[in-house]
Amino acid sequence: MARPPVNAAQRTKTAPHAGTHGTGPRLLVKAGREKSLLRRHPWVFSGAIERQDGAMRAGDTVAVEALDGRFLGWAIVSPDSQIRARVWSWSPTERVDEALIAARIERALARRARVLPASTSLRLLHGEADGLPGCICDRYGDQLVVQLLSSGADRWRATIVSELTRQTGLRHVYERSDTEVMALEGLSPRNEALAGDEPDLPRVIEENDLRYSVDIRQGHKTGFYLDQRSSRLLVRQYANVSEALDCFCYTGGFTTNLLAGGARHVTAIDSSADALALARFNVETNGLDASRVDFVTDDVFKKLRLLRDQAKQFDVIVLDPPKFAPTAAFAEKAARGYKDINLLALKLLKPGGLLFTFSCSGGINRDLFHKIVAGAALDAGVDARIVHHLAAGPDHPIATAFPEGEYLKGFAVQV
Ligand code: SAH
Repeated sequence: MARPPVNAAQRTKTAPHAGTHGTGPRLLVKAGREKSLLRRHPWVFSGAIERQDGAMRAGDTVAVEALDGRFLGWAIVSPDSQIRARVWSWSPTERVDEALIAARIERALARRARVLPASTSLRLLHGEADGLPGCICDRYGDQLVVQLLSSGADRWRATIVSELTRQTGLRHVYERSDTEVMALEGLSPRNEALAGDEPDLPRVIEENDLRYSVDIRQGHKTGFYLDQRSSRLLVRQYANVSEALDCFCYTGGFTTNLLAGGARHVTAIDSSADALALARFNVETNGLDASRVDFVTDDVFKKLRLLRDQAKQFDVIVLDPPKFAPTAAFAEKAARGYKDINLLALKLLKPGGLLFTFSCSGGINRDLFHKIVAGAALDAGVDARIVHHLAAGPDHPIATAFPEGEYLKGFAVQV
């Protein structure tokens, strides 16, 4: 039976805690701030909290309640983070325990088996969208690589690792929790083997029938940008052209697909000489013709200006820059950076040419990115139209209740 609403002032700290979710510590959210939780958005920001009842430490599971006493969810607290708690369960009768984590992993693996049945290199766990906030697991052949980026993931590390090995049958797990968000969570970075052997260097993986060497210990993210699987394949379909440009090419994910799709010449630019060396190696590994590629170690902002001054023109351009805006606070500065490179790229396109442009900034949503690209086209003096909406592949799902999950967005734009 529903309880009558209780005014916050009537509740005392020692009041017996009725309901199905017990008497443990709890977070009460401010009036109105329960709305996003009722819509199953899993983040409780520090500014949304009215008060805390009971002691709680990083990694503890607590009940989140509305001021009227309504149960909202079981959340794991991160006392040092702006995201003060993340909901791991919406059910008052559930518990965050080994069984819940095992079930979440089982369902995540079953979902991958439906959407990418033949792939052995893919993301198996994608955080909030798989009901495991802050838990990432990428599979590279028989090697698993985890990123445990929240207090909850940190607390449940042993269970997550043992369930992953048990359920996948794979033995090797490496942890790459060394991103900048660790500091925001108050966690220390980790880069080490958790189970099985140290990973081979480099490890060869397969994506869309092409092979790549991946540096699991030192490469970006968990070693490879698995999130560009679908867009790389799409780019391949448009690559039977004479001149292509791959900006921010890293280890050649797009360059290899441009060549595989028939591009007669590719200019591949990255500021990292190590990344370019691996890109060249990946081109050769696939039996593609490295003599068709100019590997350019340079700053893309600078090189695009040079190409413009040289009046170079391209049929296909890929712009896949690093995260300019990790959070919304950096959005304005990031927007200027995106506009700059997109404006230059649009000017370098031949008539009918295609620009594949991306933003992986959490602080810039698809709408804003659309506006930035539109502004770039306007200032470049070109008429442009979107021919494809681009996003991460199906192994990087986005929970409908959690739009922040769509960190990678892009457009194929034709002039
Ligand atoms: N397109 C790649 C992923 C790009 S990651 C793929 O499909 O795998 C972003 C890359 O941009 C990194 O390799 C980084 O070295 C490079 N980078 C960052 N800032 C740069 C700059 N100003 N100029 C050139 N490269 C840059």
